[in-house]
This record gives sequence, C-alpha cells and structure tokens, in this order.
Amino acid sequence: LGDPSDEWLAYQGAPTGTDIECKGWRQEAALRMLNNNLDPEVGERPEDLVVYGGTGRAARSWDAYDAILAELRDLADDETLLVQSGKPVGRFPTHERAPRVLIANSNLVGHWDDWEHFHELEAEGKIMYGQMTAGSWAYIGTQGIIQGTFETLAELARQHYDADLRGKLVVTGGLGGMSGAQPLAVTMNHGVCIAAEVQADRIERRVETDYLMESADSLDEALENAKAAIDAGEPYSVGVQMNAADMLEELLARDEIPDVVTDQTSAHDELEGYYPSGYTVEEADRLREDDPEAYVDASLETMERHVQAILDLQDAGAIAFEYGNNIRGQVQNHRGMEHAFDFPGFVPAYIRPMFCRGRGPFRWAALSGDPADIHRTDEAIRALFPENESLMRWIDLAQEQVSFQGLPSRVCWLGYATDDEGLTERARFALKINDLVASGEVSAPVVVTRDHLDAGSVASPYRETEAMRDGTDAVADWPILNALLNTAAGADIVSVHDGGGVGIGNSLHANNHVVLDGSDLAAEKARAVFTTDPGMGVIRHADAGYEDALDEATRSNVRIPMRDH
Ligand code: NAD
Repeated sequence: LGDPSDEWLAYQGAPTGTDIECKGWRQEAALRMLNNNLDPEVGERPEDLVVYGGTGRAARSWDAYDAILAELRDLADDETLLVQSGKPVGRFPTHERAPRVLIANSNLVGHWDDWEHFHELEAEGKIMYGQMTAGSWAYIGTQGIIQGTFETLAELARQHYDADLRGKLVVTGGLGGMSGAQPLAVTMNHGVCIAAEVQADRIERRVETDYLMESADSLDEALENAKAAIDAGEPYSVGVQMNAADMLEELLARDEIPDVVTDQTSAHDELEGYYPSGYTVEEADRLREDDPEAYVDASLETMERHVQAILDLQDAGAIAFEYGNNIRGQVQNHRGMEHAFDFPGFVPAYIRPMFCRGRGPFRWAALSGDPADIHRTDEAIRALFPENESLMRWIDLAQEQVSFQGLPSRVCWLGYATDDEGLTERARFALKINDLVASGEVSAPVVVTRDHLDAGSVASPYRETEAMRDGTDAVADWPILNALLNTAAGADIVSVHDGGGVGIGNSLHANNHVVLDGSDLAAEKARAVFTTDPGMGVIRHADAGYEDALDEATRSNVRIPMRDH
C-alpha cells in the first residue's frame, strides 16, 4: 500500500464548501466522495485504505490514491477517467453527457473467479477488493445501511409480530461498518438487541456514534439488562465482546432462546474478515500473518459451529435469517455442510417484494458539508410523499437518531411508481433536489447515489438473487446491463464490481452517481438515470415472473417486449 499519502493526511475527510479544486462539480463530487469514504469518522481503517466490509478499499495503494486525485483535478468536462481495481489507468476525451469516471473493481473471468486467485493478484498489487460502495466511492458510514436494516426488521415484525419488535430479543454478531447498524435498527423498531463483537474498539465506536446503547462486560450482564428491557417493553441494545459462535452456543446451553437470530460478521472472507473462536484478536491476527492456512481452517470450523447454532436456535423456536454475509455458502462450499441453507436469506424473506417495484436505497450527500442542506431535503421529501407513512416515520427516526458521519447524507428507499407526468419516485425527488440547488435553498450541489444492493443492479445467488422464481439466481447479464444503461442515461460515475458482501466469485453488481448542481443538464441526467436504474429492478423481476413486478410494469407503463411469452 505504501505510506499514507500526505494529501490524505491533510484532508482527513471530504473538502466542503462552495470553492472547488476541480474543473467542474462532477469531478469535484468524485474527489469529495473518495475522501469522504476515507474520512476517519466514516471508513473503518482508512490508514490502510479500508472503508468497510472486511477489506473493501477505496483505492489500490496510496500512490494510486494520489494519482486519482491528480487526474480528477485535471479532468475536463468532456473527458472520462477509467479506474481499474482502485488504480487510474486511462483518460479519454468523451463528451459532456458521458460519465466523468468509470470504475471496474475486483472482476475476474469465471474460471479464475475465486479468493485464491484474487489473493495472489492482490499480494502482487494487481487487483483490489472494492466491496460494494467502498471502491465506487459511495460509502457514507453506517448510516448508509441503516434504512435497509430498519426496513428488513420492520418487514420481519410485520410478518411475525404485529409490526413491532417491542418486547422481542434479537441476537446477532458483528459491530463493524455495516453490521454496526443492526442494534439501532432493532431499537428503532422498539426491540432489544444483543450483539457479539470480538473487537472492543468496534463496540466503543458504535456506542460513541449512538448506534449502540451500551457495552456489557459479560454475556450474563448483557442478558440481565436485555431481560429487564424486555419486561419493561423498552427499546435497548448492548454489545458484548465475544465470538458470535460462542455466544450462540452459550445461549443454547442455557436454554435462552431469542426471538430472532441473525449474523453480520464478515464471514464472506474467511481469511481477512471472520475471526475464529479460541483466539484473542491479537492472537488471531498473528496466526493470519504466520500461518494463513491454519487461520482459514480455524475460521471455517468456527463458521460451521456458528451456522449449526443458528439452525439449533431456529429448531428451538427462534426466527433465523442470514444477513447477507454468505456464512451459509461458506460452510456449504468449504465444510460440506449440506443443511447450511435450512434457514433463509434476508432478501427472499423480506426485501424482494420491494425490489419488484424498483424500490431500493436511494442516498444523497450534501457536498457543502452543511447539515442544514440535508434538513432542507428532508422537508422536501416530506412534502413530496406525505401519503407514504413508513417513509414519514423513517425521516422522523433518522432526524432524531442517526448521527451524520463525514458529509451529511440521508438514505430513503424509493421506487419506480410513476406519477401523472410519468416521473418515477426517484426522479421526482432528484429533480426537486436539483431545483433546491438551483434556487440556492441548498447551498452547494448534492450527489445522489445508492448501494449496489438494489433492485436491478446485482446478481448474487447467496443474497440479492437467492431463490429467484425462475432459477436465474446466477445470471449476471442484469448488473452489466444496468451499468451500461446508466452510462447511456448519463450517470456521472458508473461502476461494476465482483464480490461485494458475499465474496469473490459470488456476485456481480453495479452502481452510479448523479451530481445535482442545479443545471438543466443535471435535471436531464436525473430524469433519465432515475428512470432506467429502478426500471431495471422492475424488468428483471418481471422477467423472472414476479407478480408484483408485472403489476408495477403495468401500473407505471414500463415497456417489456415479449411480456406474455
Ligand atoms: P466489517 O468487517 O466492518 O465488520 C464486521 C465485524 O465482525 C468486525 O468488527 C469483526 O471484528 C466482527 N467479527 C468477525 N468475526 C467475528 C466473530 N466470529 N464473532 C464476533 N465478531 C466477529 O464488515 P461490515 O461492513 O460490518 O459487514 C459485515 C458483513 O455483512 C460482511 O460480510 C458484509 O459483506 C455483509 N454486508 C451485508 C449487508 C447487507 O445488506 N445485508 C450490507 C453490507 C455488508
């Protein structure tokens, strides 16, 4: 990686305000979002260029980071920069409506598409793990995932508990970049959460940033506090420093069966993400250095126990679901555990009906750095969608309980659902933000982006496309079409990655950014991209035969050739 860049040391986060270093706001937005990912308040280990999700990086090396900044500052309004696995590799004249940056991260040809080959290339400095939003410069801290986690648990509560988690105990593992959203999402649904995390500083960080209420010194203490909260019907969350597999086995041994069990440790990466039981963090880190094979063996052995404990808790009455870290796939593939998939993933269980309607995690960041700009956009979204009760509840909760990290940002799940003028929900809101920038009510441009986990942008058989109705779980044409289409529609940054949350070889996914600078060009781009992007979710699920998607296509007039075949 080299030594941390002097430029990064000087920035320590995104530049803010209305003066720009680049030749235009589109390039400036890329520069600010890259630095926002690497803000010490936002990323998990920015000194190693790691943003979140195990080793998800924003640039391949510190030299590559410096070179990206230099290119962005010099990039003209009619040029496009190419970034390949975190390194700038070319720059071409294109045109003003084209993306300013195109990114491809971690992609390998099918036969070689595995961790072993990836790690060999990574060690030689030839590739980088981009995760989802790390390498595409769209990460906005734990707040980025919070609404998705909230929506997932709200849907679980609707299906099982009268739409509320009050008095219910949810146990899970992981308090890292994304996983740290779990306790807050549980308490927002009024429930009680115990989360196991092996690293003490991760627990402290979640307490400091208000994602977690307390840390306990032992499982006994955590359980005692949790039970008191359940009896009182109060929301409560507590972190306990221990291995998640050990915690679940301990709960089984004591016959303490939670209402809900899940996990979001970085199990997608058995070497650099998941911690094996029986070692302190320091001992495990040393083992990884000295004997990576022994580390992987120990890690996979713990994962097998972990999955077995989840299944045993499910048998004992808990609602179990996998939370997108591929722990089931890991033990099925590497430990031959055939019944690993006897509990569902969260997408088929709770999220797919939203994807069918093009609903997904639309997010926006105020490039000014001024929280007032986000509060102004909150007002705008309330005025646009007053009939959407869960969205109104979400905005209230986000304002009360979600602290900003780095550039002030917000996430709202919005969908296709066109209005009388044929504008999708996402396009209506983006155009409104663009108007607010044009009128000066919002003080600087706003960048709109999203997670790669979205309706029509990902092929991931262990997660977003698990158990598709027509068996097309592994068909990866869809995310590629998504990236191509969003490029054609004029997005300002477009990216395609392999791996993401479930690990190399297990998924392909795409992302985009649109910079709303108040101009007519931005409005044109927003109208197009926020139609094509959620539209991909509708057609992908309609093609697989989902009624909700077919209904949305009819309702919103989405043209699907051969729809009746
Ligand atoms: P992260 O690496 O920042 O955090 C994971 C945390 O798990 C770390 O703090 C680590 O110390 C802890 N951990 C690892 N092994 C453990 C064990 N055995 N017991 C207890 N703690 C352990 O990663 P993240 O960004 O929080 O993501 C977590 C996982 O969730 C990843 O696999 C990621 O790909 C996946 N993910 C899912 C979604 C989703 O929408 N469901 C979104 C993003 C990430």
